[in-house]
Amino acid sequence: LLTRKISVDARSIASQLNSSGLLKTQGLIGGKWSDSYDGKTIQVYNPATGESIADVACMGRKETNDAIASAYDAYKSWSKTTAAERSKLLRKWYDLLMAHKEQLAQLMTLEQGKPLKDSMGEVNYGAGFIEFSAEEAKRIYGDIIPAPMSDRRLFVLKQPVGVVGAITPWNFPLAMITRKVGPALACGCTVVIKPSELTPLTALAAAELAVQAGIPAGAVNVVMGNAPEIGDALLASTQVRKITFTGSTAVGKKLMAGSAETVKKVSLELGGNAPCIIFDDADIDVAVKGTLAAKYRNSGQTCVCANRILVQEGIYDKFAKALVDAVRNMKVGSGFGEDVVQGPLINEAAVNKVETLLQDATSKGAKVMLGGKRHSLGFTFYEPTVVGDVNSDMRISREEVFGPVAPLMRFKTEEDAIRIANDTNAGLGSYVFTNSIQRSWRVAEALEYGLVGINEGVISTEVAPFGGFKQSGLGREGSKYGMDEYLEIKYVCLGNMKKE
Ligand code: NAD
Repeated sequence: LLTRKISVDARSIASQLNSSGLLKTQGLIGGKWSDSYDGKTIQVYNPATGESIADVACMGRKETNDAIASAYDAYKSWSKTTAAERSKLLRKWYDLLMAHKEQLAQLMTLEQGKPLKDSMGEVNYGAGFIEFSAEEAKRIYGDIIPAPMSDRRLFVLKQPVGVVGAITPWNFPLAMITRKVGPALACGCTVVIKPSELTPLTALAAAELAVQAGIPAGAVNVVMGNAPEIGDALLASTQVRKITFTGSTAVGKKLMAGSAETVKKVSLELGGNAPCIIFDDADIDVAVKGTLAAKYRNSGQTCVCANRILVQEGIYDKFAKALVDAVRNMKVGSGFGEDVVQGPLINEAAVNKVETLLQDATSKGAKVMLGGKRHSLGFTFYEPTVVGDVNSDMRISREEVFGPVAPLMRFKTEEDAIRIANDTNAGLGSYVFTNSIQRSWRVAEALEYGLVGINEGVISTEVAPFGGFKQSGLGREGSKYGMDEYLEIKYVCLGNMKKE
């Protein structure tokens, strides 16, 4: 009965979205909505029910080449607009995203599964990158360098990189796009977006709002369908000067290697293996609240998800009990359900991965303290899980779980915690819970991670740099550092300054 109700809700939401003009199923090339050239489509599913929501265009090499040509054409004029003009259009786009917050959030919950409240939060967060970029557009300028010779003047100019290929994942269907496209447009670049085939609808709705905002045809293009073909076309083109990618480390490495042939600039936001370190002196309520947010948000499907909860011996039992009690109260269900804090996982493959890693852990001595199996709701719902006595030999502590499973590991000393935390190829998010300022600072400095949350489980914001050390990525998104990713630095030397 419950599942039937979810399906009916989904259909009526889809039809409302359709009448508001935001349910787009075609790609966007040169300002025109387009089917795939051979008419092929792919289905987008509601992960809460397994039901098909929409058929979207399944595009490939030809459409991507046309999108690149449109972006290249648009670049010639967009890169010549003033910062004030670009800022105004980005601001308009931001206003439209916020004005359609509810519809965008519904679409996101429908195709991605996250609770509606979280989808609303993502619209705020994602639109924030567009607003920030609108403001930052006016602050892109170079330097004058004092010349060592009196008859010369030395200048540094900042200019747009050119056409950008932006490839994004399914876990944040809006924000992963806006945090690339906002800065790119602000700097004078144009973009070809390739959203995840699992969640293209939010991307297409956001692109429709960009069109409505008056962002010129060709400045924002969207193609989706055959990911390797689209990727290859973007990599092969000499007109695409930059690839910005968020997704798995494996695909990121392929794109980096593929960019070598045309020596493109590359930004990568890849997978993580975040440690969440709870010291004996932590405030237990703060630590539990922070761990809940860092671990279970988006059903554990974020790149900065706490993947290993390292708990100091003296507080281990107390913390484990408090965490289990808090997790037990989390309501699981359709993202449209009231008070739901955990939706489904994205698909069957995601559930299989969680099961495999948990099975490996328990076969090596880990103890399930809560959950540990599929939820009675069926489909891809998984019980919020806490598993204790995890150690470094278990795959669950080495690979991204990407599901609602908190693996607890014990440690003795601060040095142990730092050593275990850094013993990984990843280096994106990390968390420290302690009441000692000195310790928090020492540990933050020692962690080989791009982001450190101290007594806080959700730290990402458009005004701060986001990115990874080691194999978690290259470059930063958000803040002024995120703007630099879309700018070339040009040095100009003006000679012969002496008056004849
Ligand atoms: P994924 O790498 O499978 O897919 C990401 C995107 O790449 C999708 O659009 C996909 O279609 C595309 N893609 C796949 N193969 C391609 C190819 N050969 N050429 C071009 N494009 C290709 O990742 P996912 O499963 O969508 O996302 C989950 C992963 O993303 C996790 O590892 C997560 O940690 C990571 N992630 C990282 C961040 C970050 O900021 N570091 C943020 C969100 C997600």
